[in-house]
Amino acid sequence: MPEPIYLDYAATTPVDPRVLEKMRACLLAEGNFGNPASSTHIFGWRASESVEEARVELAELIGADAREIVWTSGATESDNLAIKGMVEANGKLPAHIITSRIEHKAVIDSCKHLESLGHRVTWLAPDADGLISADAVDSAIGEDTALVSIMSANNEIGTVNDISGIAEVCERRDVPLHVDAAQMVGKLPTDLAAVKVDLMSISAHKFYGPKGIGALYVRRGTTKPHPQIHGGGHEFGLRSGTLATHQIVGMGEAARIARIETSGEAVRLKNLRDEFLQRLLVLDGVRINGSEQHRLPGLVNIAFEQVDGETLINAMTGIAVSNGSACTSASVEPSYVLSELGLADELAFGSVRFSFGRFNQAGDAALAAEEVIRVVRTLRGAGNL
Ligand SMILES: *Cc1c(COP(=O)(O)O)cnc(C)c1O
Repeated sequence: MPEPIYLDYAATTPVDPRVLEKMRACLLAEGNFGNPASSTHIFGWRASESVEEARVELAELIGADAREIVWTSGATESDNLAIKGMVEANGKLPAHIITSRIEHKAVIDSCKHLESLGHRVTWLAPDADGLISADAVDSAIGEDTALVSIMSANNEIGTVNDISGIAEVCERRDVPLHVDAAQMVGKLPTDLAAVKVDLMSISAHKFYGPKGIGALYVRRGTTKPHPQIHGGGHEFGLRSGTLATHQIVGMGEAARIARIETSGEAVRLKNLRDEFLQRLLVLDGVRINGSEQHRLPGLVNIAFEQVDGETLINAMTGIAVSNGSACTSASVEPSYVLSELGLADELAFGSVRFSFGRFNQAGDAALAAEEVIRVVRTLRGAGNL
């Protein structure tokens, strides 16, 4: 049987071949294998230089300064560092945190942990489109608010929040803003020179870099989060641990490619997704979850009436898709994101996330739509609910 078409780029992306080339050169004895912290010889200097070049590449992609980039193991760690680190830096007990009910688990569970320590969390509900408004953030801010944490693009439904509006509110109210931008960076232009975000989480494997590497952007001049991993004082004292040169260099190259190719790629992916949706119109009982206007170019989450999503996903052997959240796909609860949007359990269970990416071909939209239509008709015909 041929490999299915990969339509789960929101879960992870393969490494771009150009990224692999750069990473390869950082591992073997004849390559750039040194410890970037070794300051006494050429092996260390060389590794350190590569790490700093990558830092510049990532900074340029998001309109930041290289000194504002802290390497981490991924967006999960960045979220933890930003949220727990800022509450620790704030020092008050209880401190108040504002976030939303449809954040990634890395944000939700960090906030729940802080709640268990006696801090206070306001959990903003999204509107029916899956969006969090700047006004909602404004109304929730109080005297004791230590941090606002709102994602830019949602990983399950692909909706994109008005981060510049939220940033204006946070600046006016003088509250630091953390943004989980793991689904945004490398997919849509991000310019932190124009939008006052204080902390931003980024993950390499969502934009054709390797897994296990990410970054936290920390705006110069704002309060620094307290480190969550202590050790040798690497990364301006914010995150200890020997830097993984090959991972960092890979992320830097992914950022360089994204800076050059993202705008063209976004148009191509939007066209693929729109063609896919257009073709699905022959089916009845199909709805798009979340705002159609404010969304990522390659992603769509669809509710199929009278079909069980799990059965549908398993039966579509020609395409590889998921129900939206790799981290919760083992659970029997409906997606908390879709429930918060107001979907009945039946529709939430009937929802599937399709995400297109760099290595999808022009014909993939048609092939995928054909597969969806065939299987949905079969399941509905069989009376499968
Ligand atoms: C993937 C993802 C994360 C986690 O990133 P890792 O690098 O895999 O730890 C966090 N937030 C969002 C929105 C994501 O999509």
